Amino acid sequence: MNKGIIFNIQRFSLHDGPGIRTTIFFKGCPLSCPWCQNPEGMRPEKDLFRHSARCIACRFCVEHCPEKAVELTENGPVINRDLCSLCLICAENCPVEAFEKAGREITVGELVNEIIKDRIIFEESGGGATFSGGEPLMQSGFLISVLKALKNEGIHTAIETSGYASWESFRDTLPYTDLYLFDLKIVDPGKCKEFLGVNIEPILENLNKLAKNNADILVRIPVIPSVNDDLRNLNLVVKTLNSAGIDSLELIPYHKLGSAKYSNLDLNYSMHNIEPPGPDQLDRITKLLEASGIIIHSEVEREND
Ligand code: SF4
Ligand code: SF4
Repeated sequence: MNKGIIFNIQRFSLHDGPGIRTTIFFKGCPLSCPWCQNPEGMRPEKDLFRHSARCIACRFCVEHCPEKAVELTENGPVINRDLCSLCLICAENCPVEAFEKAGREITVGELVNEIIKDRIIFEESGGGATFSGGEPLMQSGFLISVLKALKNEGIHTAIETSGYASWESFRDTLPYTDLYLFDLKIVDPGKCKEFLGVNIEPILENLNKLAKNNADILVRIPVIPSVNDDLRNLNLVVKTLNSAGIDSLELIPYHKLGSAKYSNLDLNYSMHNIEPPGPDQLDRITKLLEASGIIIHSEVEREND
């Protein structure tokens, strides 16, 4: 597939694999994690942010919206999302960028050219390109074409994945992927269904199959108090790693920095009452996992690798 849809290219990333990396965020995700920091990556199509405080009340959007989906209030524009067809006329014409589009189409060649601009940084830092999202494997044809081209250029490649994709799409990335950043969010089957909206089995099967194929895997656990930090889930994490023959993981404390994006997309953010884990909570989890023989990597340690 020659074209994909992405919503960001982030250069100088330090937390998405070894060295300094260029991270490309793909649109579309099959999960619905309520703590997601990139809600603009959830839907496969383009999206529309609303920054009402910037509005200068010129009324362009109200008068030109073909669906009559915008109403101007004393607090700025309000979008009727049921009517909005995402034509993006408002985002392309608002003089103060009170609307902002999220997502753009890009060809394989255009994306590869963007990435190889950073070749010197990759060579000097031991870095490369990381594909994130959303779930990059939702656009597996496009992803594989980009990975192949980067391998021809000798660039290190990593995929950050939730693990929820068909095995065939994982399998086809194997020859061109140097590292899988495997985000194992929740292993407890009931909680996985409750919070992510999917069954855990395909995720665990993909992890096992990647390991059997000798893929380089870094398992990462987002630590979310009262969601996945309980003893039952942590014991299941240990069991999962043992059965895949993986002896280490990285803990990533959950944070709320992306919460404002939810209101800008008119989405509900349900995590207001859950605070990020403190040092004591992280220490407790680290000790518990280490007592089971798991090696815990920290992001700082990896930055210094
Ligand atoms: S086009 Fe922009 S500045 Fe003009 S009314 Fe709409 S949101 Fe406000
Ligand atoms: S994206 Fe198009 S349909 Fe939606 S609010 Fe803007 S102008 Fe109207």
